[in-house]
Amino acid sequence: MAALPLPALHASHGGCWLREKDLTGLGTRPLSKGEAVMAAADTPLLILNAPLLATRLGYPDLSGLDLLELYAFVHPARFVVPTPKGLAHALGLAEPEGDADVPRLLQEAAGALLDMCENGAWSEREGAWTSLQSLVRMRWPWATLLTGRIRKPERAERWLFTRLPEWEETPEVPQPRQVVLEDEEVLQRLASLTGSTAEQRPGQRAYAVETAHAFAPRERSGRPHVLLAQAGTGIGKTLGYLAPTSLWTEKAGGTVWVSTYTKALQRQLRAESRRAWPERRADGTRPVVVRKGRENYLCLLNLEDALQGGFNGRAAILAQLVARWAAYSQDGDMIGGDLPGWLGTLFRQRGIAALTDRRGECVYAGCPHYRKCFIERATRASVGADLVIGNHALVMVNAARGRDPASRPTRVVFDEGHHVFDAADSTFAAALTGAEAIELRRWVIGPEKASKGRRRGLSARLADVASYDEAGAKAIAAAREAAEALPGDGWMGRIAENAASGPLEELLAAVRATVYARDESGGQEAGYGLETEAASLEGSFVEIAQGARAALAELRQPLIRLGMRLEALLEEPPDWLDGPGRARIEGARHSLTWRVDTLGAWESLLDRMGGPADPEYVDWLAVDRSEAREFDIGIHRRWLDPMKPFAQVVLEPAHGVVMTSATLRDGEDWAKAIARSGAPNIEVMPRLSIHQSPFDYATQAEVLIVTDVPKGDIPALSAAFGRLIETSRGGVLGLFTAIRRLRAVYGRIADRLARGGLPLYAQHVDPIDTGTLVDIFRDDPAASLLGTDALRDGVDVQGDSLRLVVMEQVPWPRPTILHRARRLAGGGSTYDDTLIRAKLAQAFGRLIRSREDRGHFVVLSPAFPSRLLSAFPAGTPIRRVTLEEALQRVAGHAQGATADRAEDSQSLS
Ligand code: SF4
Repeated sequence: MAALPLPALHASHGGCWLREKDLTGLGTRPLSKGEAVMAAADTPLLILNAPLLATRLGYPDLSGLDLLELYAFVHPARFVVPTPKGLAHALGLAEPEGDADVPRLLQEAAGALLDMCENGAWSEREGAWTSLQSLVRMRWPWATLLTGRIRKPERAERWLFTRLPEWEETPEVPQPRQVVLEDEEVLQRLASLTGSTAEQRPGQRAYAVETAHAFAPRERSGRPHVLLAQAGTGIGKTLGYLAPTSLWTEKAGGTVWVSTYTKALQRQLRAESRRAWPERRADGTRPVVVRKGRENYLCLLNLEDALQGGFNGRAAILAQLVARWAAYSQDGDMIGGDLPGWLGTLFRQRGIAALTDRRGECVYAGCPHYRKCFIERATRASVGADLVIGNHALVMVNAARGRDPASRPTRVVFDEGHHVFDAADSTFAAALTGAEAIELRRWVIGPEKASKGRRRGLSARLADVASYDEAGAKAIAAAREAAEALPGDGWMGRIAENAASGPLEELLAAVRATVYARDESGGQEAGYGLETEAASLEGSFVEIAQGARAALAELRQPLIRLGMRLEALLEEPPDWLDGPGRARIEGARHSLTWRVDTLGAWESLLDRMGGPADPEYVDWLAVDRSEAREFDIGIHRRWLDPMKPFAQVVLEPAHGVVMTSATLRDGEDWAKAIARSGAPNIEVMPRLSIHQSPFDYATQAEVLIVTDVPKGDIPALSAAFGRLIETSRGGVLGLFTAIRRLRAVYGRIADRLARGGLPLYAQHVDPIDTGTLVDIFRDDPAASLLGTDALRDGVDVQGDSLRLVVMEQVPWPRPTILHRARRLAGGGSTYDDTLIRAKLAQAFGRLIRSREDRGHFVVLSPAFPSRLLSAFPAGTPIRRVTLEEALQRVAGHAQGATADRAEDSQSLS
């Protein structure tokens, strides 16, 4: 393998390095940022992750020969951590020995990837030549280097649309048999899943037997078995519930949904399920499928549009690389699946989102790619599956408005069950905002400007219905006319200039004026979003709201009529309505129902403006802003208790539901967990079970409450973070409650740490998606990662890479209008305490993931209330210390760990 003789540039917080083209000549030299920018502007350089490099150099226009783009072309759908070390591992090259050695690696990696294209064993060759021809026309920087290396196939090669297999129709599935699982057989199944050599875990056995109760036959209609099972970290709960799940699906022939909140757990489940089920059954179908919301999957029709001129410039190159990926993808999942999370960020555009079906514009059987569509395939696969791995929101949406009643979840295990409340809160929310309303307008009317894409309005999508059915045609025309009342392109600009047009824009203008007049959150100066409760509204506001409500009703009526016409067509189909046509009309009816429901919710929200508040709901007006830039305006409604609709929609029709997590209870108290399960709303008393973690927290972990870093003192906070990371030699997960403070701390310490060989990454700073950030952190024990909420709960990093968790302060809830209402209803400060303890317990849970893990949990808080200490597992040592003392304790652990590592490597060698 020959390194590619082109200059290569690397920059980190620690400095910049350039290796000249002549590999035997000058070698690698350090240079200033200014010189690096000049060099990059002069000639195309070999680089890794252009957006990240651009951030490090402070030069946003940076471009070059990005190794990640080449990797995405040569090895589509293959995992790589997008760092020099990650690239070296993926290609089997020697890891770079520090920053200065990275340019050498970039040249070798480029050589290896280009060589692969000439290698007969290249497994992703098919389609590459065809794709390259387009990329040459687009002047993709790598295209000239690849031409000549990828030979023209002798016969026309299959590529994306010809290469993808078609899905098969699935027969209707019979209802499951009613079976009772005996304890003994559950334990046997568990033993066979864990393997006879696996250590006996009494906690896991008890947990598996408990979980099996949820699968028992239901005694009364509307009364499912509900189990709340708290299982401490390390119980092995995944296999614990997969044992009875696999046994029940085998004996009963039904489907179980396991629902998660994070993508990390979905990945883990997919891997663990292989112990219980084969990849494919004898008939070729899959017993285990992963289901996500349709907005996660690639829409082939959108991709085709993008490839045929819908995307320009860099976005067109992205479309080509996505097409390469789609031909090799396992399931077409673009978000958290096998599409590299970093691919979208390389192109600094919203290209990935535009390739999914976010707006419900699918034309179903009217689409030329319908039989190959990833979404349709996933939907069908889940009908006959034993195990469907989904997420909380999807389970709720499917239960509420699943296209096919047979595919609605009736046995569900909610893992990460402490998040069910939040998921229900968003799923059952209503928001009448400008962004939502303009989407509805486009769905009905179509895009305003001539657009190259395929987006079309209702009349174009249902042209055949309109020409056949007069009443249907009239309904479409009426809907089209009524939708003119919704906000159109440029609505925010018009509102800012006092030139609102139409009843909905007038409403949004009134919302904005009221919010600016009343908001006292302090967000105005800080640039945050603003809000005010929907109370004591003026007469003029109420009048405008009523006008908007009437306009929405004008739109809802014809949509209802159209839905009825479609229904009639399906019941008495005309001759021309073939199978695909029928599927398309069913699809249209389904999306109509959804829009009609949304309009109904908006109308009832507006109806209540000016009237008495409904105690079931919390309503408020908001202007959404990011760094003082407004991006949406609207009225929001949440259920005071979202578990009420959850209970009706999800629990009541179900037969068995398990909610499980390491942090369900608040300390020893079950009362709040029971209330938050929703079960009391359908008069079901859940079965309760608790399984203590087998970890020895007394020796594995220590909580340090640092009392001498003043709250709000950014220099002191930054210094504390910097010293903790240095003392621990990386391996730190830093958790913040405010992005502003995270950025300030990062800006003060990142350069210094990098110069000491301790790379620091941060959410909201680095142009890298969160999943990739965690991959990078996991891959490098010297790295540290700063982040906010998503990291508090979604990080599962075992072993040495995570040794210290630092929370910048007690995670007090944000005092929003919604929070205030729930706090009032939930017991005031005790409600807050429960929330805070839950957050602390979740954050602590990141630290110890296996029996071998050791580490410290630090909270920087001069006044940490003792009543919150019960958040930590019993037996965990807790000390209130100064920063100096904390550093000493962390140093002691860091030395021990270094010694252990040295010992390990000696015994290995
Ligand atoms: S069937 Fe719908 S989602 Fe699938 S490719 Fe066609 S338009 Fe896209």
